[in-house]
Amino acid sequence: MTVVSQIPKDLTACPDCDLLLHTDDSDHRQQGLCPRCSAQLWGASSSTADIDLASAISGLLLFIPAVSLPILKLDMVGQLGSNSLAGGVWRLWREDEPLLAILILLCSLFAPLMHLLLTVMIGLTQRFKAHPRHYPMWLKAKVWMQGWSMLEVYAMGIIVAYVKMMDPGEVSVASGTYCLVGLLLCVILCSQYFHEEQAWQYWEQGKSQ
Ligand SMILES: [Zn+2]
Repeated sequence: MTVVSQIPKDLTACPDCDLLLHTDDSDHRQQGLCPRCSAQLWGASSSTADIDLASAISGLLLFIPAVSLPILKLDMVGQLGSNSLAGGVWRLWREDEPLLAILILLCSLFAPLMHLLLTVMIGLTQRFKAHPRHYPMWLKAKVWMQGWSMLEVYAMGIIVAYVKMMDPGEVSVASGTYCLVGLLLCVILCSQYFHEEQAWQYWEQGKSQ
């Protein structure tokens, strides 16, 4: 089942450039784009409407292995070592770097988890046609968490560490890396295919019924 954004009635203003547009004769066979700035006014009815929910559920399934499994395996002068995302945060905390530990905990663990969790809650609410009174709060929190979710920065750090340590020792990617890449793809798809405007329209429709 797909949830399609409502076409604005009569005269509407583009959310990006404020151009006034008549949308009386429009339908959902094509998405509505602003002729001046190409901002999306409403989505077309297509199978892509479920991608945000599907990727959020997949991301939640990958979350625990991505943060708990080892990311890089290190073999340096006979010493073997590996570390996970959660283990790295704990290690920073123990080595008297509480600010850095909290920042990584917030941006790489808590924010992506809440972003995925809230997307699933919002998606399921829409599909079950429910109108819980906390829905606007979930939506605002989801947008806020999306802003703080910086898992890609952590992934870049892993790539840099991998390249830097290739010379002095044997370093190899471990199972956690594959889960982390999968989780990162889910978070990106979730951000790309979630339409905030449509989610608010759903709430407004429910209120007026
Ligand atoms: Zn526009």
